[in-house]
Amino acid sequence: MAAIAVAVLGALGVLVLLHQPLAAVATLVAAVSAALLGAPTVRRIRAADTPSTPPTPRIDDVLEAIVEPVLLVAQGRVTIANRAARQLLGAHVVGQDVRLAIRHPAAAERLAAPAGEAAAEPLTLVGVGGLDQRWEMRITDTPDGYRVVHLIDQTGNYAAERMRVDFVANASHELRTPLASILGFIETLSDEAGDDPMIRGQFLKVRFDEARRMQRLVEDLISLSRIEAEKYRLPDRAVDLADLIEEIRAELNDTGDPRACDIVIDVDMSVPAVNGDRVQLSQALHNLIGNAMKYGRAGTPVTVRLWQDLSGMARISVEDEGDGIPPEHIPRLTERFYRVDAGRSRTLGGTGLGLAIVKHIIERHRGRLDIASTLGRGTTVTVLMPFAEPLSSGRNESVTRPRVSL
Ligand code: ADP
Repeated sequence: MAAIAVAVLGALGVLVLLHQPLAAVATLVAAVSAALLGAPTVRRIRAADTPSTPPTPRIDDVLEAIVEPVLLVAQGRVTIANRAARQLLGAHVVGQDVRLAIRHPAAAERLAAPAGEAAAEPLTLVGVGGLDQRWEMRITDTPDGYRVVHLIDQTGNYAAERMRVDFVANASHELRTPLASILGFIETLSDEAGDDPMIRGQFLKVRFDEARRMQRLVEDLISLSRIEAEKYRLPDRAVDLADLIEEIRAELNDTGDPRACDIVIDVDMSVPAVNGDRVQLSQALHNLIGNAMKYGRAGTPVTVRLWQDLSGMARISVEDEGDGIPPEHIPRLTERFYRVDAGRSRTLGGTGLGLAIVKHIIERHRGRLDIASTLGRGTTVTVLMPFAEPLSSGRNESVTRPRVSL
């Protein structure tokens, strides 16, 4: 605005002093235009002066910030290896021929390819940094002759994919066996054997048992997928564990299972409620008590204890007097379909999914599962559940037998 006022005064000056109206108008237009065009120019210059562009970062620092191994290669030699690459391949790789640095035949062949050709498809490398480690190697050639070698860890993805494939194969196999048996008996019954009422009765029982086995399996599969779907939703209902244990004992009594009368309950009624999903916790305890009833010797007690330990956790233990579990099997018991003795598990009506379900439920509750077993003596499975608030008083029991946390 000040510039325009000066322009108007200038034009008036020309008119008054020189008595030339045309010159006065020209002066006014030129001065106002200059004022108007000048303003943004000034603003642009100021904007450019502001130090808004940060300095270019050093390439070492940028590569160092990447969590996956990255190598910068010039004329076949490693010029920079970021921290992850040094941890994986060793700090000595800097300066080395990149084919020696990675030490993998397929990688060496790909790295020998000329610029532009090496970058084709990502390459899978097995065994770099560890026997079962899997990496995806990606190569990018820069226009100024550098080569960036990026290793992406695929070990976890590969293991998850293998687990999924194994799971589908196992589940199909588990379902196919009883189905084949049912179909076989139906075929036999449709022949002349079906005329004999005794054989018909026997076959009917077998078919019923096999169908029940399929039903248990399908129910467990559905449970597993439901629990997995809720994995990240923290349960938020108050569950009184003492009350829940009593309820389960009553339910087991109602089933008429002769082992139900061997259940001994030893609960501390003052244990505060935990945050939980009552239906899921009931399922987990049913599975643990069910296993103790199945695998414990007939007539021996199945003891269920509940107490509060010094670390501010609720502890539930289920103890049986059975043959026990050989220690090498213990770490794998929570894998789906893992059984110590598949024949025995099937005869006893097991699906091989019980402990996998327990593990997922306890994980969702941010709890812990411990399995301790002594051959010939029996097994104790302990579940630890955090209270909403840490508690300081209570009773603590140390388990002296070998144990594994799962
Ligand atoms: P299953 O339906 O076969 O019982 P689980 O997942 O519940 O499947 O248990 C996996 C395996 O762990 C069982 O097949 C059995 O070999 C072993 N197991 C589980 N609980 C006990 C126990 N209390 N005593 C001995 N072995 C057990």
